[in-house]
Amino acid sequence: MSAESLPGGVTRAGIVTLAGKPNVGKSTLLNRIVGQKLSITSEKPQSTRDRVVGIYTTPEFQMVLLDTPGLLEPQYRLQEAMRAAARRALEDADVIVYLSDAREGTPPPLTEAADLTVAPGGHLLTVINKMDTLPPERAQELRLALPHAHFISGLTGEGVPELRAAIVANLPESPFLYPEDEVSTQSLRFFAAELVRETALEQLGEEVPYSVACVVEEFREDRSPVYVRALIYVERESQKRIIIGAKGARIRSIGEAARGKIESLVGAQVYLDLWVKVASNWRRDAGALERFGYRVGG
Ligand code: GDP
Ligand code: MG
Repeated sequence: MSAESLPGGVTRAGIVTLAGKPNVGKSTLLNRIVGQKLSITSEKPQSTRDRVVGIYTTPEFQMVLLDTPGLLEPQYRLQEAMRAAARRALEDADVIVYLSDAREGTPPPLTEAADLTVAPGGHLLTVINKMDTLPPERAQELRLALPHAHFISGLTGEGVPELRAAIVANLPESPFLYPEDEVSTQSLRFFAAELVRETALEQLGEEVPYSVACVVEEFREDRSPVYVRALIYVERESQKRIIIGAKGARIRSIGEAARGKIESLVGAQVYLDLWVKVASNWRRDAGALERFGYRVGG
């Protein structure tokens, strides 16, 4: 009998929160566990601003996965909102998967990293990710220094089945929290907006760092091709000109790449109607943050 199977049709279910600094590989691991591209991954830190929920269901268990937007110092309002969302995801968790980058060595305790006064109630699993980047002797040192940690590579999948089993073993006995066929409670509209933003970040390099938000204003699955109208928000006119590019070349290229990604998400042809708008100082403006779906404070 494996760790996750229980006698007599008893199931386990609970909330699993992925915690860790930006860029340690939370989204990559989430996608590997759920087996489908849900949360965007990016070379750049802080690309996940909202907590994305993936749901992984088998006959024996259900994991409801929360991806935290990153635990950072609050330097301005956007980061405060991100931090508050991350903390809520920690408080709600039955199991916390605390991820760190193997190249950074021994991670600080979660309470310190997340600046918490009280340790969260969920079962804590310390996970060292990106083991594929370490030379064998360094990897061995780290394994000896952290005998209770899990060592994985979200990229290659090494150690992920064992981690998944450890997560399941720590889920409470419970009926399923969501219908079995639900992969995610987030709407396609949200994921489409994330894909447009991911594509813009990929194509813009360092020119417009993090000043990009994206909102899908219309998503019509009743049309063929599926009609999606999306707005990219930037903070300044100069950034708008950069995104549009000479004779609109840049925005066309972003639109084509993003359309391809949205087509694989919805499994149908898509017409992407893409616009760029200036919303000055949206990062500092609580009203704008809420419009973009970030909860500010509490
Ligand atoms: P997040 O900010 O914690 O959600 O991190 P992401 O999942 O977006 O990953 C950040 C970067 O690290 C991306 O370029 C990933 O491809 C890369 N990455 C994630 N997991 C691994 C891993 O196990 N090994 C290596 N080499 N790179 C990884
Ligand atoms: Mg992420």
